[in-house]
Amino acid sequence: TGFTDFTEGWVRRFAASAAATEAELTALDQQVGDGDFGANLVAGLQAALRRLGAPGVPASPPAVPASPAVPAPPAWPLEAAASAFLDEVGGTSGPLFGLLLQEIAVSVAAGDGPPAVALATGAGGGLAAIQRVGEAAVGDKTLVDALAPACDALAAQARTAPGDPSAAAAEGARAAWGGVRSTARFTARRGRASYLGERAAGVPDPGAVGIALLFASAATTVP
Ligand code: ADP
Ligand code: MG
Ligand code: MG
Repeated sequence: TGFTDFTEGWVRRFAASAAATEAELTALDQQVGDGDFGANLVAGLQAALRRLGAPGVPASPPAVPASPAVPAPPAWPLEAAASAFLDEVGGTSGPLFGLLLQEIAVSVAAGDGPPAVALATGAGGGLAAIQRVGEAAVGDKTLVDALAPACDALAAQARTAPGDPSAAAAEGARAAWGGVRSTARFTARRGRASYLGERAAGVPDPGAVGIALLFASAATTVP
């Protein structure tokens, strides 16, 4: 189906984009953390690709359809990516990206409205889960600074064009990049960057960049 092509293409594009950006992400985390964010993100997405198998041929969907003729459900690639992060990636970002992808997968699996609405609802659930676990607020210089405005923009665009997840993701990505720029303006109150105080000022948060890449990857995925 179209929506499954979208979610699978999204995960594959996010993997390609993370790989292409790994060196920059590493450099950012070397400045404000311990330098492993690029490797953590790439490791999660490589694990996700292994779970996806060959393009268009789901290797092992969690809810295995009774017959091979039954198409894979749209949530499956997101579930595969979520469990890859949750099972295989350490650091702070592994579980947090895992939670976000899992909430989006749950919302898509539940059929929470048309595609863009399910995406927006899932991202909002992911933000809530991340804040429950990590206790970061907007302004603490974490990925929440990119995810929170992205969720607002996704929801607004989903109301305008509920059937177009790419358009919603494009607005989410635009807002996330704005959040990334904001993280360069303040010092951190959460995560390793908080140990650096003023020394981390001027450097954007690597996790926030990862969130912007996530939505930018969906924006360029045609359903
Ligand atoms: P670690 O610090 O364990 O090496 P990573 O390098 O995998 O973690 O991820 C770093 C990113 O995690 C940061 O750039 C930030 O966006 C995010 N982060 C750190 N702490 C929190 C938190 N409490 N809530 C949300 N995001 C956080
Ligand atoms: Mg790190
Ligand atoms: Mg680390």
